[in-house]
Amino acid sequence: MKASTIVCKILITLGVIVISLTTWPSVYAEKLIGLAAKPNVWLEAPKEYWDDVYISPQILQRRAIEDIRILCDPQMQGRRAGTAGETKAMVYLEEQLKALHLLAMGEDNNYLQLFPIPTMRATTINGRVLFRPDINDSFLNPAANILACIPGRDPGQTVIISAHYDHLGVYQGKLYPGANDNASGVSCVLEVVRRLTADSLAGKSPIPNIVVAFWGAEEMGYLGSSYFVSQPTIPLASIKAVINMDSVANGQKEDFIFWSKENDFLVETIQKIVSNLGGRIEKNNGQGHASDELPFVKADIPAVTLLSKQWLNKNHTPADDLTQINEEKLELATDILYALVQEIAY
Ligand SMILES: [Zn+2]
Repeated sequence: MKASTIVCKILITLGVIVISLTTWPSVYAEKLIGLAAKPNVWLEAPKEYWDDVYISPQILQRRAIEDIRILCDPQMQGRRAGTAGETKAMVYLEEQLKALHLLAMGEDNNYLQLFPIPTMRATTINGRVLFRPDINDSFLNPAANILACIPGRDPGQTVIISAHYDHLGVYQGKLYPGANDNASGVSCVLEVVRRLTADSLAGKSPIPNIVVAFWGAEEMGYLGSSYFVSQPTIPLASIKAVINMDSVANGQKEDFIFWSKENDFLVETIQKIVSNLGGRIEKNNGQGHASDELPFVKADIPAVTLLSKQWLNKNHTPADDLTQINEEKLELATDILYALVQEIAY
């Protein structure tokens, strides 16, 4: 190479560096700040993550039924998305996850992922209250998903355990407490998260990151889970499975159903675990119903929703209150979820 060519190359390289340095702050700084604000889920949590953590046995041994009582309390006003009742439930759930020292997996290093929902009108179809978007009103309300993580040994993989925490609120002067739909699913997930946290503290960590998701605005058409799939706070490709719990604790103790797509790898595992624990479970096509598994199934991610076989009894009526909860069934549902996570994540 001629000396003049070398000099020329050096000058070009210097020019590129100078141009980069002058444009860097204005063009890229904001993007970098945005990246830094997201949780570093693709990085391994430090091995000593749990070393200096103390969580009282009182917190670790808290049972699902205690959470159901709080989520159904009239002060939560039926947890309708976009209302103060939902915010109270959100604050309560966030506190539970913080007390367990879980990693924040929402946006900007906190536990929440906010998203907009349209104004909704409630209507009654076949005795059940349902929401429909109000096409005459373009005002958007904020709602939120709540996201946290128990760090695993291989952060390139994720297993999501989830439940929606919203319900119908107050309609025509009547409170819809949503005990089975879906205080039961949320409480079941919380108890399992407490057990898994206790396991991690005892030195038994999962292989994948276990992400806990409490979806908002499911009753308005899976809006929270759909938003998460469109704006994920973790790479979708890392998600190996989504296990969603919805309306799991009413009716006959042993009887469950699940919704999933055909030939999901989770199908056999669920059937085996439920029968090992003395329950019965059958696959069900949903007959037009679905839950937060749907946005994941549409994105080709293995996902199932587990429900009580009698989930439609009193569903979306004011009678879905604490009297609907079969405590033995709630315990069985919790044991099923815990065993399922053990099977696929440890
Ligand atoms: Zn519902």
